[in-house]
Amino acid sequence: MTRVFNFSAGPAALPEAVLRQAGEEMLDWHGAGLSVMEMSHRGREFMGIHAQTQADLRELLALPANYRILFLQGGGIGMNAIVPMNLLRGAHSADYVDTGEWSKRSINEAGKYSAVSVAASAAAQGYDHVPSFDSWQLDAHAAYVHICANETINGVEFNATPDTGAVPLVADMSSNILSRPVDVARYGLIYAGAQKNIGPAGLTIVLVRDDLLDRALPITPSAFHFREQADADSMLNTPPTYAIYIAGLVFRWLKAQGGLAAMEARNRAKAALLYDCLDNSPCYRSPIVKADRSRMNVPFHLHDSRLDAAFLQGAQERSLLQLQGHRLQGGMRASIYNAMPLEGVQALVAYLQEFAARHG
Ligand SMILES: *Cc1c(COP(=O)(O)O)cnc(C)c1O
Repeated sequence: MTRVFNFSAGPAALPEAVLRQAGEEMLDWHGAGLSVMEMSHRGREFMGIHAQTQADLRELLALPANYRILFLQGGGIGMNAIVPMNLLRGAHSADYVDTGEWSKRSINEAGKYSAVSVAASAAAQGYDHVPSFDSWQLDAHAAYVHICANETINGVEFNATPDTGAVPLVADMSSNILSRPVDVARYGLIYAGAQKNIGPAGLTIVLVRDDLLDRALPITPSAFHFREQADADSMLNTPPTYAIYIAGLVFRWLKAQGGLAAMEARNRAKAALLYDCLDNSPCYRSPIVKADRSRMNVPFHLHDSRLDAAFLQGAQERSLLQLQGHRLQGGMRASIYNAMPLEGVQALVAYLQEFAARHG
């Protein structure tokens, strides 16, 4: 068996130790005589997994006591509608910051439910940076301010948290949650689809401050209603049980790695290695302003795009997969989430240098 280095943006690589454990437990979980996939979500075994998974996530994030964890479905795109439905009662509009393709999608979807004001946008500069916080045109009466903490497609990441005063800050952290410590108390709501940095597709994690549970529009479906799901411990409908179990294994793995501070150090080192290589070769170009470059998703271009196909072919031969850029961006993109080991980035850098030497 050969495992490749998988640079996919999502669904993305998982820690090998987690996959091995899931394999060992597939037919018979802890002597229960059945797979987690086959368990009733209300049975003792799964309730235990569910509770432990929540407790481990709470510990990893040092989550304040007045925040709830919800395990929902619908993904990041579902949340683009679920967030306004849950937060708009009594408000006339919401503020959005436009830093790339994902925030653009969030803005368009929110427009179905609410007046939307774009407080700042990096569109005119081709989404190569985060607009400086003091340029944002915030509305003190907005229901919330929405940001995309890491633009998975563009490769732009917030490296600081904006201060939105009394207006709750809402962040889509689908592609950088758990990649570094985060001061959750600065946010009213954080959400993330699992398939980038947590586990399998199908699970959406929501961290929500207690006082935001009661602002939903009456049309909000029960399965996506924060208050109803919080009161039902995310079991109002059948939750994505197997995805929750794998997420739980990933949380335990993260704790064993030393938690989020240790992951941040590793992620910094991996990103620095890759960006330094790109910056130091005339063969490659990183399109993002240095201070706002993502540590998770690294888009880059070959100086001569006619070599793109040859580059990808050579990468494939070295078991470096899924490096093709997003269809909207062209070029290349290396996603280096928590589960990408340093060795994977080292192998990519060695190939980048070898390719540059051959074609430079
Ligand atoms: C992948 C992604 C999404 C969309 O997730 P789906 O699960 O496909 O709905 C939304 N926002 C960000 C930042 C993403 O990376």
